Amino acid sequence: MNPKEELEKVAREAAVCTRCNLQFSRKNAVPGEGPANAEIMFIGEGPGFYENEQGRPFVGAAGKFLDELLHQIGMQRSDVFITNIVKCRPPGNRDPEAGEIQACNDYLERQIQAINPKVIVTLGRFSMARFLPNAKISDVHGQAMNIKGRLIVAMYHPAAALHQRSLQSTVEEDFAHLPELIAKANHMPEYNDPSSNGHEEDNGATQLSLF
Ligand code: URA
Repeated sequence: MNPKEELEKVAREAAVCTRCNLQFSRKNAVPGEGPANAEIMFIGEGPGFYENEQGRPFVGAAGKFLDELLHQIGMQRSDVFITNIVKCRPPGNRDPEAGEIQACNDYLERQIQAINPKVIVTLGRFSMARFLPNAKISDVHGQAMNIKGRLIVAMYHPAAALHQRSLQSTVEEDFAHLPELIAKANHMPEYNDPSSNGHEEDNGATQLSLF
């Protein structure tokens, strides 16, 4: 199966998923969207009201701000893949629960494997925790970590910046570094996963370094 077909398969499965209780508040699953060969992937928290209505990620106020941030660095939405840590809306926009994130993880993992992005930007603490479980967003935002040959960059969620104006310039500054990080990531050596050779003990944490 090629990457595009795998992404379409994930989307079809998410649309009828029964792996967690978010299925009951779902109008439309929001698997994510963007090119299968995107160099950069954004991972938010979960669909909100408008995303649930339309089945598309980041189409509300936070999405408008995300579009603006992309525009400021000469990119547009169609250049990047945008998804969420959970594909169905948590009722009332509450935080996603650990069991829901776990139940949805296979979809996200398959999307990452299919797209194989050079850079993953996590938006907010829930998607950050998937890659950097012990990190505090106030400490690490905007910094790139090399995890298994991919740059992971944690950023504040655009919605947080909309609610707390002081974060807006922080998010803008962090975004401004993305083009340079993408260029850096393009020069990183291909990562050979030791676990694929039977050396399960290396989980990639030893590969972690700071740019
Ligand atoms: N917030 C998110 O985290 N994801 C969306 O898709 C929309 C808002």
